[in-house]
Amino acid sequence: SVLADQIAAGEVVERPASVVKELVENAIDAHSTQIDITVEEAGLKRISVVDDGDGIADDDTEMAFKRHATSKITDRRDLFKIKSLGFRGEALPSIASVADVTLTTSTGGVGTMIHNVGGHIVAHEPAAARKGTDITVTDLFGNVPARLKYLKSPTTELSKITDIVNRIALSYPNIAFSLVHNGRELTRTSGRGDLQQVIAGIYGVQSARKMVAIAGENPDFKVTGYVSLPELTRASRQYISILLNGRYIHNYQLSKALVAGYGSKLMVGRYPLAVLAITMDPLLVDVNVHPTKQEVRISQEPELTQLIQKTVFDRLAQENL
Ligand code: ADP
Ligand code: MG
Repeated sequence: SVLADQIAAGEVVERPASVVKELVENAIDAHSTQIDITVEEAGLKRISVVDDGDGIADDDTEMAFKRHATSKITDRRDLFKIKSLGFRGEALPSIASVADVTLTTSTGGVGTMIHNVGGHIVAHEPAAARKGTDITVTDLFGNVPARLKYLKSPTTELSKITDIVNRIALSYPNIAFSLVHNGRELTRTSGRGDLQQVIAGIYGVQSARKMVAIAGENPDFKVTGYVSLPELTRASRQYISILLNGRYIHNYQLSKALVAGYGSKLMVGRYPLAVLAITMDPLLVDVNVHPTKQEVRISQEPELTQLIQKTVFDRLAQENL
């Protein structure tokens, strides 16, 4: 029901940045190579995500707006070896229940356009479309004024959008991303697969030059990425991005381990810039802890934190630091 969707929306779609995150993750799951995000008025006026991915077959388009309709899990056991970013089938119905959503999609042939207002499909017709999907969200939270009131200033909401897009772009160097706000380009990556180039695009060329590649592994985990030399720091941990099997996660213990790898080389209250990609058997991680899937439970976390700390420490030692 629309009410159930609105309740789920309270958890999944907290703010414009959550909408961007869910739509972009869907585009990634659909094997896109290019994802263009356009936002107006910090997302409150319009959010649009255009991809060149698989598209949705006409027969499946209405289903995509139904709760717990996911094309990504067919078996309960799949929950324990999740590789796609989405799997709960909550995002589209949740977003549609609190906004006006137009979906135009094609799997290659004649496309489909579906217009959904406040959780109800008001139009479903053939549309000319190239392969891929275009989802445009307007009037976000128009029917939930309480949610609107709870949002921060447009500047803050926009910075949350930029932050999430940048982290996702860092996670997928092989996908070309662009983010445009009110006609101004904020992020663009080439999709050529070079992580250092993505870092340069996001944090600037000067910063990228002060970052070094790291790599370490043990039988259960592999860590790769880039960390800044101790001369390049920030006053917050926010510039540490941790990716677990390609999924951007929040994990205090892991970022703490990364910082610990610097030993006494960092001043108190200063933190490195870093992109840390962890690869592990999906069976050893539970991503189904929270609807946004940013919190995870990892078995053998102590082994992983040790590996991270040692990998960073050894790499800095190589620089005679
Ligand atoms: P989930 O991602 O958890 O499966 P969503 O509500 O986010 O659920 O999306 C519902 C379904 O709609 C997906 O399983 C997928 O089949 C389809 N879908 C959504 N966005 C896209 C997209 N950009 N490209 C292709 N298919 C999509
Ligand atoms: Mg999804």
